[in-house]
Amino acid sequence: MEPKINARSKLRPSRRTLTLLLSAMAGLLIVACLRQFPLSPSVADSPSDRTRAKQLKVAVEKLKSIHKTIRKPKPGDWLDRHYEPGQTFARYLNSNPVRPIGVRSIIYVQPLGAFTKSQRKSISLAAEFMGLYFNTKVVIRKDLPLTVIPPAARRVHPQWKVKQILSTYVLDKVLYPRLPKDAAAYIAFTASDLWPGAGWNFVFGQASLRKRVGVWSVHRNGEPDKSPADFRLFLLRTLKTATHETGHMFTMLHCTAYECNMCGSNHRQESDSRPIALGPECMAKVCWAGRIDPIKRFSGLYTFCVKTGLKPQAAFYAKSIETLGGKLPTTQPVSTSAPQNR
Ligand SMILES: [Zn+2]
Ligand SMILES: [Zn+2]
Repeated sequence: MEPKINARSKLRPSRRTLTLLLSAMAGLLIVACLRQFPLSPSVADSPSDRTRAKQLKVAVEKLKSIHKTIRKPKPGDWLDRHYEPGQTFARYLNSNPVRPIGVRSIIYVQPLGAFTKSQRKSISLAAEFMGLYFNTKVVIRKDLPLTVIPPAARRVHPQWKVKQILSTYVLDKVLYPRLPKDAAAYIAFTASDLWPGAGWNFVFGQASLRKRVGVWSVHRNGEPDKSPADFRLFLLRTLKTATHETGHMFTMLHCTAYECNMCGSNHRQESDSRPIALGPECMAKVCWAGRIDPIKRFSGLYTFCVKTGLKPQAAFYAKSIETLGGKLPTTQPVSTSAPQNR
């Protein structure tokens, strides 16, 4: 999910507006890749950053044993269609990455339009999860109504008859003028379907990397009210999108080494097959960027996954803690039922 070539040429963004698209066209998820563009004032590495980098390299070596290297792409998969260079932890450190620290350290989440209770619950959980994933403060802003989108930035899809809103309008006219100064990223979630302009059917989300704004839709993430299992699938998809795309906004490229949340995906089946956990090198990137100890990070994510009934994901974080010699936090499992619409 992520920008690349076709997305760029299709949309003809200005030089200053580099768009990242999680796009689907004719049912195909077209993912675009972020190259390395420092987007906010760089924060000089401190001596503690250099020490942390050394410690993280040790953690990477330990964790390799529990991660699967990336499988061979099947026809139609992302790496079957696109060449990608990958990005090691060392290369990331040399890329002057955007980090959620310093003057721009907060992720702002912007609910846009109406949501069912289950959708809203997922967004609230996604905000909590992003905070744990990147070690950042996350602030959910007051709702904005869909009336901020004028008729000219709306349409009904000509064949599918689905109501859609123009993602570029959300980025440029809704979010950017409201961008808080201390935002590392300002991300709108909407239950409306999105389309990015002429020539496109829909997109799952889009981000303007230089402006630190993004919009993701949960419209195509499933039916969270159908059953507890459907709610968990909806939640998991929402969490994956939120963290994968935010990872791009912090200068992370697609992973080509491990089965990892930062792998590119060309279609829903492929993205569903990827874990929400980061491979060892990508884990090191977020721990270094957000200045967090990996065991502390895994512990927070483990507790979250237990709380939300994401059992396989909780089990993997438990294994990660164990592999690094940490102690599992005590946690109280809570109800995993989908919130009811009442
Ligand atoms: Zn991507
Ligand atoms: Zn990775």
